[in-house]
Amino acid sequence: MEANGSQIDGDLRGRRPEVILAAELLLLLALAFVASYLLHPGGASIREGVLLGSLALAGIAAQLAARRSSRLVQPIWWLVPVVCMFWIGGEGGRLLIGLLDSSADKQWLLSGVFTLAAYSLLLLAALRVLAGSSAIVWALGLFDAAVVAVALCAPWLELLVLPRLGGAGGAALLPQLLVPVLAGVVLVAASLAVYAAPVKTSWLYVLLTAIAAGFAGDLLAARHLLAGGGTAAALSGWELRALLIIAAAACIGGTVIPRERRLLELGMARLAVVIVAYAAALAYAAFAFERGKQLSGFTVASAISALLMLRLLTHALERHRHSEQLERALHEQEQLAVMDSLTGLYNRRFLDAELQLELDRGGRSQEPVGILLCDLDHFKRINDRYGHLVGDSVLREVARRLLGAVRNGDLVARYGGEEFVVLLPGGNKELLKEIGERCRRALEEAPFYVPGGRGEIVTISIGGACWPEDASSTRGLLEAADSALYWAKEQGRNLIRVSELGVDRAMRTSEYATTPYRVPKYEMGMPGEPDGSFATEVAAPLGECTFRAERMERWAELVARSLGLDDQAQRRCALATRFHDVGKSALPESILIKHGPLTEVEWELVREHPERGATLVELVPKLESVAPIIREHHERFDGRGYPYGKSKDEISTEARIVFCCDAWDAMRRQRSYAPAMTVGEARAELLAGRGTQFDPDVAMAFLMFDEADLGEAERVLATPV
Ligand code: GH3
Ligand code: MG
Ligand code: MG
Repeated sequence: MEANGSQIDGDLRGRRPEVILAAELLLLLALAFVASYLLHPGGASIREGVLLGSLALAGIAAQLAARRSSRLVQPIWWLVPVVCMFWIGGEGGRLLIGLLDSSADKQWLLSGVFTLAAYSLLLLAALRVLAGSSAIVWALGLFDAAVVAVALCAPWLELLVLPRLGGAGGAALLPQLLVPVLAGVVLVAASLAVYAAPVKTSWLYVLLTAIAAGFAGDLLAARHLLAGGGTAAALSGWELRALLIIAAAACIGGTVIPRERRLLELGMARLAVVIVAYAAALAYAAFAFERGKQLSGFTVASAISALLMLRLLTHALERHRHSEQLERALHEQEQLAVMDSLTGLYNRRFLDAELQLELDRGGRSQEPVGILLCDLDHFKRINDRYGHLVGDSVLREVARRLLGAVRNGDLVARYGGEEFVVLLPGGNKELLKEIGERCRRALEEAPFYVPGGRGEIVTISIGGACWPEDASSTRGLLEAADSALYWAKEQGRNLIRVSELGVDRAMRTSEYATTPYRVPKYEMGMPGEPDGSFATEVAAPLGECTFRAERMERWAELVARSLGLDDQAQRRCALATRFHDVGKSALPESILIKHGPLTEVEWELVREHPERGATLVELVPKLESVAPIIREHHERFDGRGYPYGKSKDEISTEARIVFCCDAWDAMRRQRSYAPAMTVGEARAELLAGRGTQFDPDVAMAFLMFDEADLGEAERVLATPV
């Protein structure tokens, strides 16, 4: 937790100065160009020289920045030198043409093209900032900006461009048409980006003013050109603006905006602006039609209608993508609730439920139900000798072989660390012996391959019991099988023993039957219990959730209860804990399993998971109340958490509880960036974090409640692994 937070801060702190430095460099270059132009109004060659030099320097500066910046903004930085290169080529070419042929006609083309390129660059940067990584959201932003731009440009279009399009030189008028429209789109997109930027610096306003001035200048220049005026003023204006715009693109492209500030995702405010623009453009079109200006009316109406249709289509796609994502996440959650993430077998929770169902069914059909409780022999040695990762792969192979040995319709579950249960509907004693023997042999007959090409024989001891012969309840049945298993272990392991309780109920007093019931070690534990730590050693994304979520759910509920929260709040805590990381399902695998520090961009994505999780959960009617908790489950008490930086009472109590349980769980596990802490270390961390990272009351409740279970926790911990 803590490590995550400081790493994020460190990453952002480390990058921002670079970005600002490079942006300032570009601005300085632009200013140099302006100054040179003002100082030497007549000295065209000096001006051109400074321009070419500035472009080269800007290209080099951007290239340096590209090397050091994160992957998300890199494309923008790389575009700068590319555009500079083209521009230098273009300017060079123009100078040459100017030398050979001094007529100005051919000159506007290059300037127009470069201005367009510069605007496109800025548009890309602004949308990139606003939309993050989703192409669909990019498109939505683009269409919205375009609708607003059409509304802004409609009068200009009407008064100046359309009347001239019919005449000669329609194609030549295209740049004059395109440049201001694009400038309008850029103005809207850049304003949104600047508005949403988390840190408002003066350079952002300078850039925005420059772009706005550019937009106005482009309208005027185009008007001037359309009216048959000279190109010189327009040319100088365009060059200057293009340079400023490239600088703006670089600055804005380097700004990282947290997801929750992104306007393109805010929906309502943006929609209102679009609707107003749409209505204005429609009103204008109606007005134009009424006055008999068919072409103007038709152009504007069809442009915004097409844009609106594209927008609707894109929005539908986005919804579709969301619902698919949700479906996948829910399906995964359903699976996780009943599956064991390491072996892919059913988990203990599922087995317990299924066993009860089978007994009920057996009661109706008068059929017996058998179970086999299987425990690997001396499995600790495998772990000690080859490490836990190899131990894990042996467990997976054991699961595979057990599945191969049982009948169709039998259920194999992982009951605990290296304990498995086979549930045999209709299984009597003979069948138990037969299937049990098949399982035992399945392991014994072929070695397990471990690193170094060696074969290791792994054996299993099995205890079987039958309902109703040996017990009348599920718990009794498991106890009977456990006693039989104990017996098998006693007698030398690699054996199957079937309970004989049924032969003589008086056997309850016999040696094995009086053996105390061994509480399976991997029962869902209290904080401090090391269970599940192996399965989660390699930080598998959602796969790790089974053990974790169940344990955490229970902690959260207990803490909520001890804080005096009502039943509903306790339930909300438990549910929020279960789904708290559902937003991670949208994260790429590469981030989830990454060893070593995350990059700024990866952190940005990680910081989005509470918001994404909340959005997904909101779509499920029964889980709506849990969404706000998930949204806040990474907020710290001192306000240094994410995504909102809320503090103290701004964060709901439930979210503060989930945060604390999540932190405890993370501390107790081996993470890719830190080793697992002992109970003592984790407790010290909780104590130290009271009032800063954690709500003091929640942390204390957690520690108190851990105190009560410390005896058990320490006992388990003391068992050498
Ligand atoms: P016995 O024959 O008496 O059953 O000996 P044992 O070593 O198998 O018994 P014990 O129950 O003492 O140890 C079980 C070991 O199983 C402890 C732990 O190292 C290992 N284990 C439990 N869960 C996992 C897991 O998920 N992955 C790995 N690799 N090892 C696990
Ligand atoms: Mg064992
Ligand atoms: Mg065991």
